[in-house]
Amino acid sequence: MGKYDYLIVGAGLFGATCANLLSKKGKKILIIDKRDNIGGNVYTECIEGINVHKYGAHIFHTSYDDVWEYVNNFATFNRFTNSPIAIYKNEVYNLPFNMNTFSKIWKDVYTPEDALRHIEEEKQEIKTNPKNLEEQAISLVGRTIYEKLIKEYTEKQWGKNCNELPAFIIKRLPVRFTYDNNYFNDKYQGIPIGGYTKLVEAMLDGIEIRLNTDFFNNKDEYLNMADKIIYTGALDEYYNYKLGKLEYRSLRFDTKILDKVNYQGNAVVNYTGNEVDYTRVIEHKHFEFDSTSPKTVITFEYPSNYEDSMEKYYTVNDDKNNQLAEAYKKLSEKENKVIFGGRLAEYKYYDMDDVIKAAMDLCENI
Ligand code: FAD
Ligand code: UDP
Repeated sequence: MGKYDYLIVGAGLFGATCANLLSKKGKKILIIDKRDNIGGNVYTECIEGINVHKYGAHIFHTSYDDVWEYVNNFATFNRFTNSPIAIYKNEVYNLPFNMNTFSKIWKDVYTPEDALRHIEEEKQEIKTNPKNLEEQAISLVGRTIYEKLIKEYTEKQWGKNCNELPAFIIKRLPVRFTYDNNYFNDKYQGIPIGGYTKLVEAMLDGIEIRLNTDFFNNKDEYLNMADKIIYTGALDEYYNYKLGKLEYRSLRFDTKILDKVNYQGNAVVNYTGNEVDYTRVIEHKHFEFDSTSPKTVITFEYPSNYEDSMEKYYTVNDDKNNQLAEAYKKLSEKENKVIFGGRLAEYKYYDMDDVIKAAMDLCENI
């Protein structure tokens, strides 16, 4: 018998939710993380009085009542609604694709019928079911929008041509025939006041945490330390890549403190053309409504190929990688002591609420 009921590898949202719910069930938990911070990718750090999203901007949105109720136990959420803008060749467009976007793209568009007329006409070039992201995008919004707002952005983001990428990536974005710039369709949305770190700290209150601790540095010792392991690290790494390496996409963040109150007037500005290498610029203070800082903190987000020792930000869920992930999942299902969960261990493009929901479901069945 181990010293702990559960060892949880990774203090991101999957690990933190499991730690919180299992400790409420009376289980003795140790949670470890190789980073020097809790929260995984949602970690925020206070700089100049502003909560900076260190591993990429995170907007919480969900339609699950139970997940919304659960996270509200640990933080109060503000009324932030994500309404990014896109800049292409010095013109500003609203996202997601909605009547504001359509009327800017086509000068004769005033009504939904006007917009539909253009889109119906432009999508005629796609004759069969969309097989890839390019065909999917054109059949959703037509070629003009595809070329100005999707093609180059997506190719920067993924480092692949749009006709080689899976269609599902673009289906995440709403297409709306109303003048509504809300990026999400979900029932609830907001940013935890005080930052995500405060939220995860509250989830992990009273739980033993060891940071700067890599599971693989002492795998056998950790496996013997607890009766069960919940592993949220990379699936292929757990098996020492014995079936081959899964593909990931990484990011580089260039963060600057500026001596001005307001740099771009919006939290998220996407640069959809390929004349710059970054995809978006985040101005963190606009996620909050109470900032009195005379300065501002901005982050340029550069997509990058994944190389060893970089962070694995995105899984690449094309057919080839999904097949390899399935082969690893067959191995992981045979484990009787180790449970795999979260974005990296399930090799899945998961939003925060889905990760929390999956962890809640797991803990309910334990
Ligand atoms: P992670 O947060 O990755 O946590 C896993 C943890 O395990 C990490 O802390 C890691 O250090 C640790 N770990 C890994 N291997 C080991 C090891 N060997 N030993 C010890 N520790 C280890 N979702 C939204 O809902 N809204 C958004 O706006 C949004 N924006 C995003 C923006 C970006 C740039 C990215 C990359 C993702 C975004 N997401 C967003 C998705 C969101 O980040 C994830 O859903 C969520 O953070 C996943 O939680 P997790 O616990 O599965 O993984
Ligand atoms: N996308 C785009 N143009 C934009 C924003 C997004 O073409 O201005 C596409 C791109 O392919 C991206 C996908 O939509 O990978 C999903 O975008 P989202 O903002 O949901 O991505 P994430 O926040 O996960 O990076």
